[in-house]
Amino acid sequence: MKRCTKCVIPDTRPNIVFDENGVCSSCNYVPFRKSWDFEKLKNECLEIVKKHKKNPHYDCVVAVSGGKDSFYLVKTLKEWGLNPLCISIRPLIPSPIGIKNLHNMVYTFGVDLIQITLGEQRWRDESRKWFLEDGNCFEAWVIATFRDVQDMAKKFDIPIVFYGENGNAFYGGSTEKTVLEEYSKYITSGQEVITMYLSDWAPFVSSENLRIAKEYGFTENSVRSVGGFTKGYSLDDTIDELYLWFTYPKFGYGTSTKYGAQLVREGKMTREEALDKIEKYDGEFPFDNIDLIMEYLGITVDEIIATIRKFTNYHHERIEGIIQELEKKKK
Ligand SMILES: [Zn+2]
Repeated sequence: MKRCTKCVIPDTRPNIVFDENGVCSSCNYVPFRKSWDFEKLKNECLEIVKKHKKNPHYDCVVAVSGGKDSFYLVKTLKEWGLNPLCISIRPLIPSPIGIKNLHNMVYTFGVDLIQITLGEQRWRDESRKWFLEDGNCFEAWVIATFRDVQDMAKKFDIPIVFYGENGNAFYGGSTEKTVLEEYSKYITSGQEVITMYLSDWAPFVSSENLRIAKEYGFTENSVRSVGGFTKGYSLDDTIDELYLWFTYPKFGYGTSTKYGAQLVREGKMTREEALDKIEKYDGEFPFDNIDLIMEYLGITVDEIIATIRKFTNYHHERIEGIIQELEKKKK
């Protein structure tokens, strides 16, 4: 495994591309964005929204979770004079702090919110299937943030849906292929809904979004996240802890690498500081909440161990230690 010479992301991350100097495509995307004229982009964005407006009340839909990026997204759209309808997909296992943050977001910005809850059993079944077949307990929820939010937007006759960052451009290899294209096979509303990533039109810096969100009523956790060192990232859904952990056996890096790389790129920590956090926390398993998560997914200890083994491409003594701990639950 080779890490980017600027940040800490390894070449095992799907879709990442390294240049001849060993610098990853995400690091090269940062200076590329510096030349953008955001005032001009904002006006172009508003033109598109105005041109497609159909609903007399709402200008656009915004997909939200109540996390730091949602606060920034809603704040920006409101400042641009737009009236967005917020739509959120209920987290699989909602965390108390996530519920509070979503409430604060709606209250602070005075926006309307629709929260979609998929049929509980169907949702559990889908999440269980994704977990056992793909080692990804969060995929059913991610699909819903595209499929169901867009279906709802269509029902309200709102053809523009905003999301946060263009993930492929920010973290992957290509600036051309969007995340939406990956999920397009699940979307039934087709071309009638236009996806807009705010990061394509406005500054979008995760640590800045957190700082701004906190000014508007967003609360960080009192403790660092499992496997990571941040307190304000991925707070809404307890199941995220297992989802984020699985990159460790699959791709050989964990949550500290993921957020460490972002913060190094944003100039908020040094590469050495990030490597230190990675050494300490990467691959830490969510033992505190694993019983809750297993109960939600309806999986046994044997099934979780078998799934870890099935998707372990990068062996590490930490993973063997975790499996031994899980084995004890059987007694
Ligand atoms: Zn990099």
